[in-house]
Amino acid sequence: MAIDQHLLWAFFASLFGFVLLYSLRRRNCSNVNKKQLMKKSFPEECAKQSFSNGESRPLEGSGTDVVIVGAGVVGAALAYALAKDGRRVHVIERDLTEPDRIVGELLQPGGYLKLIELGLEECVEEIDAQRVVGYALFKDGKTARLSYPLEKFHSDVAGRSFHNGRFIQRMREKAATLPNVQLEQGTVTSLLEGNGTIKGVQYKTKDDQEHKAYAPLTIVCDGCFSNLRRSLCNPKVDVPSCFVGLVLENCELPFANHGHVILADPSPILFYPISSTEVRCLVDVPGQKLPSVANGEMANYLKTVVAPQNPAELKEAFISAVDKGNIRTMPNRSMPEDPLPTPRALLMGDAFNMQHPLTGGGMTVALSDIVILRDLLKPLCDLNGAPSLSNRIGWQGVLSIVSGLLCYMMFEKSRNLYFFVASTINTLAGALYMVFSSSPDQARREMRQARFDYLSLGGKFSTGPVALVSGLNPRPLNLVLLFFAVVIYGVGRLLLPFPSPKGMWIGARLF
Ligand SMILES: Cc1cc2nc3c(=O)[nH]c(=O)nc-3n(C[C@H](O)[C@H](O)[C@H](O)COP(=O)(O)OP(=O)(O)OC[C@H]3O[C@@H](n4cnc5c(N)ncnc54)[C@H](O)[C@@H]3O)c2cc1C
Repeated sequence: MAIDQHLLWAFFASLFGFVLLYSLRRRNCSNVNKKQLMKKSFPEECAKQSFSNGESRPLEGSGTDVVIVGAGVVGAALAYALAKDGRRVHVIERDLTEPDRIVGELLQPGGYLKLIELGLEECVEEIDAQRVVGYALFKDGKTARLSYPLEKFHSDVAGRSFHNGRFIQRMREKAATLPNVQLEQGTVTSLLEGNGTIKGVQYKTKDDQEHKAYAPLTIVCDGCFSNLRRSLCNPKVDVPSCFVGLVLENCELPFANHGHVILADPSPILFYPISSTEVRCLVDVPGQKLPSVANGEMANYLKTVVAPQNPAELKEAFISAVDKGNIRTMPNRSMPEDPLPTPRALLMGDAFNMQHPLTGGGMTVALSDIVILRDLLKPLCDLNGAPSLSNRIGWQGVLSIVSGLLCYMMFEKSRNLYFFVASTINTLAGALYMVFSSSPDQARREMRQARFDYLSLGGKFSTGPVALVSGLNPRPLNLVLLFFAVVIYGVGRLLLPFPSPKGMWIGARLF
């Protein structure tokens, strides 16, 4: 198994940071009043200074602290979070009408917790969002029900599923209520560079007018089809599969308020509610070449290959959704982060890093990153004076941030899970997609069966994995332990009661 780059990077950075902590701590923390860190709020005097003191005026006198490109899930939430802290935020979004997409419809409970931290939890209200309390897995007629470990949380905490566009509109509205947020419709065409740093963006409005927006920090959140990614990051993209989306109407899921994962052939099928009367179905189709929707090949594929593998309760609604013809498709991209050194610009959300959406973790990762960024920026009253605001931070920046972070974690230990959310959820998403897809390789088939049987054991065997997927406990150690537990379980299945040479050979390959 390839070692996740995030983990290695985080390990070495933390090691260096720890060794240098004591020497750097005074310098890094000297400007930061510890009480302010513990208070968690942006220092009042910073807010005042940002708005009224000419000394902290941003670059080119634009009056903006942060330019955000894109007001999707990430841009809208980030705008709200930074503006709440007193930053003057200019958000430029290509299309401010309600999006109609088949992405980002299930928010994991870990993501809901982040929404609460950001003060945005009311954005899942009044949109007919549905509570999600766990998963149901289906394989060869067998079922396993896996509940989120929510016992320790407030009764309101659970996953939420909804129409993505409704959720985004609620977040845009919420951000726009703040007087220091300027939300504008426009398409960003390029980043503005000068003296080796990013100074802002160039954008076009509907009337075809070119404009420029300047700020000491530009954050690009233009999603998985990002045009600007190539300026800030090595633009490697892989497309292992596509999702084909349908909406099933007026049908009951076998397990109410659960996400349903069918371990089908050749790859998984998902069902989850997106309103009180609609169920989203996402069918994974491996590869990039899909059967044609226009000439009916897709409908035929869905009826003959997919429908027979669905739970009986959903077959009729599935067929009528296919017959209705509203078949949507979306590539499932894998876009690992590999940022270039670009001071004063950051990539966030899918544009920064995206993994297979099977586990529905994208928004949880993104919201968690927003909380990290907001908190790291908190001590900086004036973003102009922050030298390490860079997409790739460089050694000095790494040391300064890691040691600053360690200072920070000393005061807020409970928050040290932040850094692990993205690496754990992303690693898990890629691994589960591989394991949950069928394969002619016997070792992979064994692994798939072992994973299903392991989760079916219930109790602690399912709680750990579900806590990882849900973002409720995204510690990397849990991921490593899970990997070994499933492999040992799989090997045990092969070797008991009597080991055969074939069983031993396949067992060895499970590692
Ligand atoms: C098929 C599929 C299903 C998914 N399901 C889930 C799920 O159930 N749960 C989950 O957590 N995650 C899911 N994800 C991932 C999730 O959708 C993303 O992580 C999330 O939407 C990322 O938000 P974002 O703000 O980065 O991008 P987006 O939400 O795509 O927002 C990007 C915004 O930038 C705007 N924009 C683009 N270019 C420009 C430009 N040049 N100028 C101005 N504006 C611009 C766009 O109009 C858009 O509004 C899924 C992904 C896919 C592909």
